Amino acid sequence: MSEYPGLKNYLADWAGDSETRIAVSRTIEAIAAACVDISALVARGPLAGELGAEKGDNVDGDTQKALDLIANDLIIEAMHNAPVACLVSEELEEPSVIKKGAPLFVTTDPLDGSSNIDTNVSVGTIFSIMPTGQNGDDPCCLLQAGTTQLAAGYVIYGPQTALVMTLGDGTMAFTLDPRTSEFRLTTRVVEITPNTNEFAINSSNSRKWDGHIRAYVDDCIAGEDGPHGTNYNMRWIASLVAECHRILSRGGIFLYPGDIRQGYAMGRLRLMYECNPIAFLVEQAGGAATTGIQRVMDIEPGKIHERVPMIFGSKHEVELVEKYYAGLNPSHERPQLFRNRTLLRK
Ligand code: MG
Ligand code: MG
Repeated sequence: MSEYPGLKNYLADWAGDSETRIAVSRTIEAIAAACVDISALVARGPLAGELGAEKGDNVDGDTQKALDLIANDLIIEAMHNAPVACLVSEELEEPSVIKKGAPLFVTTDPLDGSSNIDTNVSVGTIFSIMPTGQNGDDPCCLLQAGTTQLAAGYVIYGPQTALVMTLGDGTMAFTLDPRTSEFRLTTRVVEITPNTNEFAINSSNSRKWDGHIRAYVDDCIAGEDGPHGTNYNMRWIASLVAECHRILSRGGIFLYPGDIRQGYAMGRLRLMYECNPIAFLVEQAGGAATTGIQRVMDIEPGKIHERVPMIFGSKHEVELVEKYYAGLNPSHERPQLFRNRTLLRK
């Protein structure tokens, strides 16, 4: 076998004779094929036309760029070659019925980070694959908690195009070989370091956050003089896939909490096609994903475009934020802790 096995062979080995696994494999291959086309378009930049041109608003009020719609069409087209009953997409108000009676449904953010297209910053495609359940044609059966996911992943279009995915047993990364248009396995086990001193948050919203998030970030900024007892760096790319890729590569924590801006009580990120697949990847890599008070993958969605607060990354740091929400944060006991600095060390 090659040093870097191709995606198709890898999936065939994994699937064996299992009907469900074969269906999942065919679906991942179809998504990957669409992403090869999206990658080629992204790489051509302005030569491919005005990919960043504004075309309208989606159901959630986000501006749709030309590339958002092209990527959405490519994914829908690909789903017709897969055993998929129904597709939920950021760009579609309602679920799109693909093939009635098929065993799987897919949720996708066809192009994440599209506001970055014109700036040549990494963007991506996120996907999640779930079983259709008992009422395969009933859109209500789409509303499943993230724990039912059979597979999830993203393709990041950066200096390299990479497919990062989980089949429920670890997280792995494939790199696209542009010479052959084939994804090849380059990292078998992606692991997130449990400790970190890098946090990512849009701090321009700080005055609108709740007290827990503000206390946590204040304590990060206080560095080694504060209750965390360590100096932090901050990162903010404003592209979820790029942030997740960095955290999978070298640890870190990402926070998009709810805030008091109109429409942002539950943050900005969508549960079914952004948070759940990212949470699945992160957990399978040894990290954690929470709203602050609940594991993201345990949330029962009420609607397909539902938003939830999203905090994910290095396990110990995510657990630290949960302590702030539980009222057990180091700041809470700051006077006592400052008297004994050794207690402050993580
Ligand atoms: Mg997105
Ligand atoms: Mg998008």
